[in-house]
Amino acid sequence: MRYAVLGTGVVGRTIADKVASLGHEVVVGTSDPQATLARTEPDGYGNPPFSDWQAQHADVRLLAFAEAAAFAETMINCTAGSGSLEALRAAGAANLAGKVLIDIANPLDFSQGMPPSLDPVNTDSLGEKIQRSFPDAKVVKTLNTMNAQVMVDPARVPGEHTVFVSGDDAEAKKAVSELLASFGWPAADILDLGDITTARGAEMLMPIWLRLWGALGHGDFNFHIVKAHPDA
Ligand code: NAP
Repeated sequence: MRYAVLGTGVVGRTIADKVASLGHEVVVGTSDPQATLARTEPDGYGNPPFSDWQAQHADVRLLAFAEAAAFAETMINCTAGSGSLEALRAAGAANLAGKVLIDIANPLDFSQGMPPSLDPVNTDSLGEKIQRSFPDAKVVKTLNTMNAQVMVDPARVPGEHTVFVSGDDAEAKKAVSELLASFGWPAADILDLGDITTARGAEMLMPIWLRLWGALGHGDFNFHIVKAHPDA
């Protein structure tokens, strides 16, 4: 399968690394490949510049968003939530049409300082905005409720814990669940919340996730939904 991972931050790098390690063809999308490779400073979160990662992953090509999306059968949105629509517009609606678009982004709004708030929130979500903006793409929101290392290595957190899936297209969610299984997620831990409007709930876990991160002092944790009636 050909994947385009849109985004060069820690999530994009971690997902691209994992998907490539599973034998898929992977490209990474960015606004301007030359500018991204020319950066020498750590990013806003203190991660080394992308060129360091690229040097260790010469098999993964860095392309402009549109070229990356044109190459791919499936896309994974790992851009900052505030820039996701801009990035996807650059990718081009025609390049997204008919394809599965996995959305990992959170609509974090840092304009009022820390901790960030969410925009949109409550009555809308980034997942829905993306689906409305690109009606021919099959948007599936998932993996946004945990840190990047846990996304691709669920065993990092001992025991059972949960990954949520939201989207309108049943076949797309099935394909995404298969990808999650290949990351190591047991089927019993993949919880289909329903249509894309359910992305609101998954995105609104961010405020408590950020508080847990502060309280625990690390990001190696996850949510676990415990059911009184496991088969129901
Ligand atoms: P990030 O710093 O949030 O995002 C970096 C990416 O966003 C870059 O590829 C950048 O493009 C792109 N971008 C930013 N503004 C843009 C704009 N206006 N137009 C086009 N592209 C724009 O990276 P991250 O920390 O890896 O997070 C990625 C996403 O995953 C975020 O939505 C975040 O909330 C979510 N998430 C993160 C974690 C985590 O563990 N960090 C966990 C769950 C969910 P260039 O490549 O051109 O610079």
